[in-house]
Amino acid sequence: MQNWVANIKYIKGVGPAKAALLAKLNIFTVRDLLEHYPRRYEDRSQLKSVSLLTNDSVDTFQATIVNCQESKPRRGLTITKVTVQDKSGSAQLVWFNQPYVKKWFRPGVDLIVSGKVERRFGQIQISHPEVEVMDGSDLLHTGRIVPIYPACENIGQRWLRILIRQALDDFGAPGDFLSPDIISEFGLSERRLALNNIHFPPDQESLNEARKRLVFEELYLLQCGLLNLKMKSQKYGSGIKYAVDGERVTKMIAGLPFTLTSDQQEALNDIKVDMEDVVPMQRLIQGDVGSGKTVLAAIALAKAVENGYQGAMMAPTEILADQHYHTLAELMAPLGIRLAVLTGKLTRRIRQEVLSRLRDGLVDIVIGTHALIQDDVEFKQLGLVITDEQHRFGVRQRASFQAKGKMPDVLVMTATPIPRTMALTVYGDLDVSVIRELPPGRKPIKTYSVGSEMRQRVYNFIVKEVNAGRQAYVVCPLVDESEKFEAKSAIQMYEQMTATHFSNISCELVHGKMKSQEKDRVMSAFYAGDTKVLVATTVIEVGVNVPNASVMVIEGADRFGLAQLHQLRGRIGRGEHQSYCILLSDNENTETRERLDIMVKVDDGFELAEKDLLLRGPGQFFGMRQHGLPDLKIADIVHDTDILLEARKAAKQTVVDSEQFAIVQPILTERFGNYFGMIRNN
Ligand code: ADP
Ligand code: MG
Repeated sequence: MQNWVANIKYIKGVGPAKAALLAKLNIFTVRDLLEHYPRRYEDRSQLKSVSLLTNDSVDTFQATIVNCQESKPRRGLTITKVTVQDKSGSAQLVWFNQPYVKKWFRPGVDLIVSGKVERRFGQIQISHPEVEVMDGSDLLHTGRIVPIYPACENIGQRWLRILIRQALDDFGAPGDFLSPDIISEFGLSERRLALNNIHFPPDQESLNEARKRLVFEELYLLQCGLLNLKMKSQKYGSGIKYAVDGERVTKMIAGLPFTLTSDQQEALNDIKVDMEDVVPMQRLIQGDVGSGKTVLAAIALAKAVENGYQGAMMAPTEILADQHYHTLAELMAPLGIRLAVLTGKLTRRIRQEVLSRLRDGLVDIVIGTHALIQDDVEFKQLGLVITDEQHRFGVRQRASFQAKGKMPDVLVMTATPIPRTMALTVYGDLDVSVIRELPPGRKPIKTYSVGSEMRQRVYNFIVKEVNAGRQAYVVCPLVDESEKFEAKSAIQMYEQMTATHFSNISCELVHGKMKSQEKDRVMSAFYAGDTKVLVATTVIEVGVNVPNASVMVIEGADRFGLAQLHQLRGRIGRGEHQSYCILLSDNENTETRERLDIMVKVDDGFELAEKDLLLRGPGQFFGMRQHGLPDLKIADIVHDTDILLEARKAAKQTVVDSEQFAIVQPILTERFGNYFGMIRNN
């Protein structure tokens, strides 16, 4: 077996300079090169005769060189003209300022030519065509279905094709890691063939076969990783077996100011069954914003404490962690449960104190941010870990969180109602409970999409609502470059507003670059109702719960994805008041208008998520900054659903077959090790 992970510079024709360029394309090893899959293909396999070449179309034909001339009509301009002909007629190939092309061309040489045809005054001309000399070797650049690669400056398509062809010939593919059973059961092609055909397909059919095989193996590896993770945390059977509900849990549920919806009840039941089983819980609760997931977390945590264990809950932002702390404290403190917060803003001294109390078991429940998964955080007896808004954390972070305990139960909550295929990819290692129904009595939010000519009226409306006792959010446009730019534009906007529309109203600003203390002060004032209008960036996107807030204005709404708009909108409509969401945008693009109209019409998070995924693709779907998606080279989790389901089925067989898994594991680690972060040999 050839060394696939050999550094790319050992390939013939790649020196240090080219290697540095390839690095820009993330190509470091032979494997990276072979897995540098084409972005698209051009079908240059249909050969026309010269006389049938049509004006303005991109055609391919075979012809023989008649002559080659170079002229320099003026300084700085070199024109190379090559006349070619076949039986039916002749054509001119033209290059400007590429004098070196002429060295390839001698009369009598046969070429395959592809390019855009110009027919003028009975002449046929093609400027800067793709040409390939027919010398009996395989055609690479034309006369076939030709791969078009992601490329970059100074790396051309031709060079990449030649290099990849050579790597395929020299290194081929190592032995197939898919078992013969899987290959035959799922009708896959053999690996070596698939790799060859994904780059240089003889025809469309072979290309489809090749793609299917490679998509399958990529998703299969990923699923093997996820399912193995799940098995590993369950296989020892030495998880915690919690007792049936005792006094504390019963009291807590009885003391709630509402009865649980039937979806909540069902999800809670799933949690109980999992917790009371010796196999550790690995459960995802998927529920739209405002569907009431926090209370379920609280009940589960109380159950852990009741059984003598500690619980921990991780949220993606400080604002959210603080808010959870307050919500949970309200429910739990009366039951004598001891809570603490652990976030990045604690002073050293306080942090040390919290850590030591966690270690000594003097704290029952800790709520925090990423700060919870730092190395020096230790628990006496951690029995339940909960992550909220999971899509902001990766599998890896979840795993290190889990590793703080000994086979703790794991509960993951997400308000992003991700579609099923995506759930299987991102949360493939979890069981899923879904809360679809919202608590009763919620009035549907009224959503409007308007242009900035309405801004005056929109702000007047805010003032009116505030005078009626309500509160409002004004969300600033997304700025892509960085949080710093975003903060700057938010500050500008805030200053402008307080100087004009909101000069008589208490209005405050919150953004990601503010000091924690300042953020806390602003949020507390808004929670308390002292601040009426909160100008904010997306820091308020997740979790913030102020039932009295009834208006949200989203500036530059076209910059947000549907799922994100939905999250933001979920900050209002949480109380008994009629709520209004106003999307401001001057973008006249039809697609954008359609997207915003969908927001106006649809309030179901699942439906919006499906639409968003189709409209924007998975990368954008989770937002640019952080997401829990693995880096897929060829599979498309939106469209490859069928293959995904098959790959998962195959992976299920593999992970329970230790011999087969041993073959897959090194490849899995190589390919997705970073994603899982902790796949070890056990
Ligand atoms: P999520 O975290 O799912 O977005 P929360 O847990 O913050 O939602 O709940 C939103 C609001 O609904 C909270 O104020 C909560 O107290 C309330 N709530 C939760 N469950 C119910 C219920 N069954 N009936 C009425 N109100 C509820
Ligand atoms: Mg929540």
